Amino acid sequence: ALVVRHRMRCSGRWARAMAILREFEENCGTPIGKLGQVADAMTVEMHAGLASEGGSKLKMLISYVDNLPSGEENGLFYALDLGGTNFRVIRVLLGGREGGVVKQEFEEVSIPPHLMTGSSDALFDYIATALANFVATEGEGLHPSPGKQRELGFTFSFPVRQTSIASGNLIKWTKGFSIDETVGQDVVGELTKAMERIGLDMRVSALVNDTIGTLAGGRYYNPDVIAAVILGTGTNAAYVERAQAIPKWHGLLPKSGEMVINMEWGNFRSSHLPLTEYDQDLDVESLNPGEQIFEKIISGMYLGEIVRRVLLKMAEEAAFFGDTVPPKLKIPFILRTPHMSAMHHDDSSDLRVVGSKLKDILEIPHTSLKMRKAIVELCDIVATRGARLSAAGIVGIIKKLGRDVVKDGEKQKSVIAMDGGLYEHYSKFSTCVQSTLKELLGEEVSDNIVIELSNDGSGIGAALLAASHSQYLEVEES
Ligand code: BGC
Ligand code: MG
Repeated sequence: ALVVRHRMRCSGRWARAMAILREFEENCGTPIGKLGQVADAMTVEMHAGLASEGGSKLKMLISYVDNLPSGEENGLFYALDLGGTNFRVIRVLLGGREGGVVKQEFEEVSIPPHLMTGSSDALFDYIATALANFVATEGEGLHPSPGKQRELGFTFSFPVRQTSIASGNLIKWTKGFSIDETVGQDVVGELTKAMERIGLDMRVSALVNDTIGTLAGGRYYNPDVIAAVILGTGTNAAYVERAQAIPKWHGLLPKSGEMVINMEWGNFRSSHLPLTEYDQDLDVESLNPGEQIFEKIISGMYLGEIVRRVLLKMAEEAAFFGDTVPPKLKIPFILRTPHMSAMHHDDSSDLRVVGSKLKDILEIPHTSLKMRKAIVELCDIVATRGARLSAAGIVGIIKKLGRDVVKDGEKQKSVIAMDGGLYEHYSKFSTCVQSTLKELLGEEVSDNIVIELSNDGSGIGAALLAASHSQYLEVEES
């Protein structure tokens, strides 16, 4: 009788756990009709954000980049890329139309987590120091010409209200950074002061978001690049807009007639988004409640955490892992998206990768095959929602640009430069983005829309923009 009762208890638990999973699945649903609504809402918000400052959750920030790289860029430039858990310092020797990128060197430095929530000076000193150390490794032929100051393109991957191509005030931090005193400050000023403190003589010639850097880097190699999307720790998009379609821009009309817009789509929000109780809780407990809602259901910083939250609920309310809730499962952000991806891609018949991740990370020693299958399914639900919504966002841009229809047989290519570890490394995610684009746009249109992976193009892009805004360029006669 005991055995029977035990079995019944277990099957009751299993049913309850599956009910939790099914309910979550249902609430994450992204049928094509809903995705269409999300894409349309994105287009609507783009218009609203361009119309007036504060007109939308989409800030549609003006980048002051009205000229993308031409290929003429020449000289030695530095770039610094701050945005996620790592930052990069880059040195690029540009050789003009003939030479292209003659030489490129970089170093990646990780940011100690305490600096992400510490003081502004400490963060910028750390960055400036790493940059100085990198400058000290300049080799043969990689020195600035005598008497010339070194110049830097600063990729700063947070929302910034630019005041010129080389200055701008931080609107807010995202992605795990939270340093109150930096908010509202000119981040170029912060970096410049730090460089002065440590005695590094360098001028910031361009301040760019990573989307802008990626767009610039992409355009350098391919003239059909019209937008850039980041799917990494955070998410965002930028695209080339007609200056005349930006009512809130009161400056001079640029000669090119164009202006690159940093959408900050991570902050997009719409009643059409499939949000669940887990997303709500994650948001409330985050460093930036109420902000970056699109980002929190799409990007690499959060996907693993959503999976953890659902698993915790299954453990607490349906004893999914047995009588006790595994203590590690209660630790926020312990399950990272790369772990989730590894489990999701496990194609062994006994799902041993899933088993070992559960063991190594969550210290759950034993799991049945049935349980592992349920966990893979959970990963699939979370990744699929994120990928399909990302595709809907891209379609929103394509629609805003009127490229969602083929104009009398015209085969105009639209290339989207893509960067970010989520897209690069989580192949089920990127495959789903692509297939959803097809589904939403139809075969004929989507044949002309190409996503091009730009491996850390934002660094090169920033260096290129530093070059085209160099203090040593002869001022053009106009
Ligand atoms: C930031 C954007 C950035 C994106 C990708 C978001 O959290 O707000 O500025 O482009 O992450 O790095
Ligand atoms: Mg990056």
